[in-house]
Amino acid sequence: MISRRLFLGATGTALVLPASLARAQIRSNPFTLGVASGTPRETSVILWTRLAPDPLKGGGMPIGDVAVRYQVWEDAEQRRLLREGEVSAPQADAHSVHLKLDGLKPGREYWYRFSVGDYDSPVGRTRTASRAAGTAKLALASCQNWQSGYFAAYADMAEWAPDCVIHVGDYIYEGGVGALGTRQVEKPGETLTFRTVRQHNSAEIVTLWDYRNRYALYKSDPSLQAAHAASPWIVAMDDHEVDNNWAADIPQDPWAQTPLEFKVRKLAAFKAWYEHMPVERPPALVGLESSLQMYGAYRFGLAQVHLLDTRQYRSDQVCGDGFPGQAPCADLADPARSVLGQGQEAWLTRQLRQSDAAFNVLASQIWLAPYRFNSAPEPAAVNMDSWDGYPVARARMLETLGQGVANPVVLSGDWHCAAAMNIHANPDDPRSRVIGHEFAGTSIASDCGWMHEMDTYRPDNPHVRHLNARQRGYCRFDVSATEWSTSFRIVNDPYDAQSSCRTDVELRTRDM
Ligand code: FE
Ligand code: CA
Repeated sequence: MISRRLFLGATGTALVLPASLARAQIRSNPFTLGVASGTPRETSVILWTRLAPDPLKGGGMPIGDVAVRYQVWEDAEQRRLLREGEVSAPQADAHSVHLKLDGLKPGREYWYRFSVGDYDSPVGRTRTASRAAGTAKLALASCQNWQSGYFAAYADMAEWAPDCVIHVGDYIYEGGVGALGTRQVEKPGETLTFRTVRQHNSAEIVTLWDYRNRYALYKSDPSLQAAHAASPWIVAMDDHEVDNNWAADIPQDPWAQTPLEFKVRKLAAFKAWYEHMPVERPPALVGLESSLQMYGAYRFGLAQVHLLDTRQYRSDQVCGDGFPGQAPCADLADPARSVLGQGQEAWLTRQLRQSDAAFNVLASQIWLAPYRFNSAPEPAAVNMDSWDGYPVARARMLETLGQGVANPVVLSGDWHCAAAMNIHANPDDPRSRVIGHEFAGTSIASDCGWMHEMDTYRPDNPHVRHLNARQRGYCRFDVSATEWSTSFRIVNDPYDAQSSCRTDVELRTRDM
């Protein structure tokens, strides 16, 4: 017997069913990926879900767009209904929903739920931004390799329910299936043990189908779903949402992917990212050139957060792939090399000059502060993928920050190592003026295979006030008029999905 779905697809006549008909064909819970909200503004927020009764196999939805009911309440008990209506889950967007809720009040909490047929989504809580708020609670997350640990950090974050979660990338990893179990790595004086606790669902992801199924795998994690349902998020991807260490149009291994193949792959990655994130704008396509608007400014009381995109517009890495540190070469000094690209850099400079915020936050995927993996007097061996690999662009950034920008605070991820660092006007001179502070989150779950080297060379990096590469977790920030306070939360057992978390270190910027 030919199924209705196959029949409709084959004849090519009725690819879009009436919403009610497609809805009637959903025979199991389509809300397997939870709900989310994001892009919080003073009067608006984006609500997200995706219909996927069979999430790891393309979603399993019938052909056609589907109308999804939504309800928004002003109270957690769902007594005061603020709004209800219908929104489309387009087939072309993998039946994801991006609903922009306008006309809200600043600094207020709202609760929301989606429904299709007899199925209801979990209830999510969100919160609008507020310029007038006296305090702000913000969380920083990054780097959640499914295979190397559970996401217990997110359950802890959900319990704290911050005003906003700032995610600076590596939401998924593109790699293939690892071997379950432990592996050991010998280092001078110690043996490191790493463990693969659960496996990816396919070989390295390349196509839109692959990327969708990979997002679905990650989003099936209940702790991650809880953190999305507890707070609005702002998100910008890093490298692993596309391909390790990619830079603009260049993959990590240009000998293995042609420019055309990489363009098609990048578009697939961008499309799937949009389909799974509570963001407003889908990728734009001009010919085969895809682009995504990821950077932007957000205001949480006294903190203005500039979410940066340090991947899409950057110049290619230079000098070689020595890891974790690589000796410098002449190419580093090329003034044409950029991290943010001209447009974003000009925008950020304008933002910072005009800002009246007490704290000016740069949420950068990669570390802005330096870190050397050798001792003086040799030229510093550094990670060429971080701002260390772009010293001229960093000098421009530091000059801008040093010119009267109030309390610069940099938040970063990427390196799977928690750190609190002073940012000096001259990054090569720890006696130069401190112009700001950086807090690097560790990772939600990804290993820091270079933890031994981080510890070995810590004495050669005197601007570092706290360092922990050995545990997984995230950062909590409490911002008030006089204080930026950071708690480094760590997971007690990264191999236990139900693990408790604790505070490793709590630091105030004025004590750094
Ligand atoms: Fe990472
Ligand atoms: Ca990264």
